[in-house]
Amino acid sequence: MTAPVTLVQGDITAQRADAIVNAANSSLLGGGGVDGAIHRRGGPDILADCRRLRAQHHGKGLPTGRAVATTAGRLDAHHVIHTVGPVWSATEDRSELLASCHRESLRVAAELGARTVAFPAISTGVYRWPLEDAARIAVATVREAADPERFDEVRFVLLGQDAYAAFEAAL
Ligand code: ADP
Repeated sequence: MTAPVTLVQGDITAQRADAIVNAANSSLLGGGGVDGAIHRRGGPDILADCRRLRAQHHGKGLPTGRAVATTAGRLDAHHVIHTVGPVWSATEDRSELLASCHRESLRVAAELGARTVAFPAISTGVYRWPLEDAARIAVATVREAADPERFDEVRFVLLGQDAYAAFEAAL
């Protein structure tokens, strides 16, 4: 049994959820893509939390595949969970790291008691992971890890039509 997995096409920063996952980079200091959008709309409290986490625990950067939580600032959510996706490689299989992002994000969400969690398509932007493959890994991992006792909904929020179609096919 798995918690309901749903799909929405749109902007993840406009979602209401207990936790919103950010495709961050290891510095935790913000970037482009979904990361930039989350910090812009969520306001400066998110970055302040990120800086604190960095100073206290992740001075060398958050390792790929791991996840940490901060406030969600002004977003319509209680938490942002920052995870670092792997950069796509044509020569090395990094699927386990991409799966780990999803598993670790859900583990952190469960610790926080977050029952609805929204994910973007991690690693499919600047990190260039092919959409179909990323969607397959994301959906399979969430289906395996989303305990229905702990989660009411895991939602993938896809910005573009192509990403939506890839996740729809994977689902
Ligand atoms: P990564 O570095 O992990 O590839 P990106 O932010 O570059 O992260 O892209 C990840 C995915 O998030 C891409 O599919 C991109 O189109 C999508 N994306 C960018 N902005 C948003 C947003 N506001 N809401 C949802 N998805 C977004």
